[in-house]
Amino acid sequence: MPSDDLFDEGLFTEAERQLTICNSCRYCAGYCPVWPALELRTTLEPKDVTHLANLCHDCGDCLSACMYAPPHEFAVDPPSVFAEVREETYRHYIWPHRTPGRLATGIAFAVVCLVLALLSWLFTDRPFVVADTPGDPYQILPHTPLLLAVGVPSLWAVGMFGWAAARYWRDVHGRFADLLRPRVWWTTFTQAVQLRHMTACEVPGRRGFHIVLVYGFGLCVVSTTAAAYLQNVLGHHPPYGYLSVPVISGSLGGVAMLVGGTGLWLCRSGSGFLWALLVLAASGMLTLLLRETAAFGPLLLLHVAAVVVAFGLAPYTKFVHWIFRMLSIHHDNLER
Ligand code: SF4
Ligand code: SF4
Repeated sequence: MPSDDLFDEGLFTEAERQLTICNSCRYCAGYCPVWPALELRTTLEPKDVTHLANLCHDCGDCLSACMYAPPHEFAVDPPSVFAEVREETYRHYIWPHRTPGRLATGIAFAVVCLVLALLSWLFTDRPFVVADTPGDPYQILPHTPLLLAVGVPSLWAVGMFGWAAARYWRDVHGRFADLLRPRVWWTTFTQAVQLRHMTACEVPGRRGFHIVLVYGFGLCVVSTTAAAYLQNVLGHHPPYGYLSVPVISGSLGGVAMLVGGTGLWLCRSGSGFLWALLVLAASGMLTLLLRETAAFGPLLLLHVAAVVVAFGLAPYTKFVHWIFRMLSIHHDNLER
């Protein structure tokens, strides 16, 4: 069972009220997996509402179709109540239970930029200037401080995601052994990468832009991994050629993130974290395009600062939703 403070009691009562009406109505049964999952439950506990809320993709179709939506006196609005429950989920399972505002994020970015500039000044003779090899990041910031600057927030994010995932699964599902079901995971991953449950989204283009953004992010991870392999296994140090795997995958990934992120923003479907991803992609692309100019040093530090802030704050932003969504899809597939 989830801890008692998972929900504000009023929120759970309201969610239970609305979903009880839905369970009698069942008009939306074919819209998304939320409704068949709801039909399996005759009574609702906080863990059920948490699971259903994280299974919802917020497409809005049920609200558009609902004859009991406001101004009807039943005031049924599942997307809104699920969105509130998801916010509670994120706060409950991530520590500390806080979401940084724009001001705090801006201050964090400024402080990280300052610290990186100081490190560059401490560790190099001519900060921000590449003396010998154009595009060599280690002439701006040596390997060890650069690795620590990016590695510490990344490990923090991964650790926090894992901790949240374990607690969420324990509360909502209970059996850790069910995490070791490769066939069900294959179905889950297939559905997740296709964003299959978002097919009926009422906002045109939202699903497509979401896919482009996610795949772009994946290509950037491929780029970083390939660069690490080239350097640490094959001993090839950066900068890498324009036709190398890190540069090609990073360029395609950066463009995809810019296209997907801008599209989602135009669909009015973005969160604060979307801006962090856009800054990340734009600074990365500029760093690559201008790597043989004097702007390379400052741009690289800005890009690294964006990476540090985005990874460090990722668990406290909407980015965290992928963990709970994946686990809820997996739980749903196991139930079926
Ligand atoms: S959202 Fe409205 S139409 Fe859909 S199941 Fe609930 S009450 Fe029925
Ligand atoms: S908003 Fe969309 S995904 Fe969420 S419950 Fe309604 S139909 Fe399903």
